[in-house]
Amino acid sequence: MWRFKACRKCGGDVFIAADEYGWYEQCLQCGLRTELPNITELRNKSALPRGQREPVPARTR
Ligand SMILES: [Zn+2]
Repeated sequence: MWRFKACRKCGGDVFIAADEYGWYEQCLQCGLRTELPNITELRNKSALPRGQREPVPARTR
């Protein structure tokens, strides 16, 4: 998923991806990374297969 010219630092293109901590967007030009907590919440609520539990790592931030 791409967002063109969406970087708030340099105005460059960012792509949206996910790692084990959730979704983030990262700028190709300057490398600025922004976490996307809203999308993370959506994923946890709606994207899991029925009956399967995702282990929830303790966040120590
Ligand atoms: Zn940037």
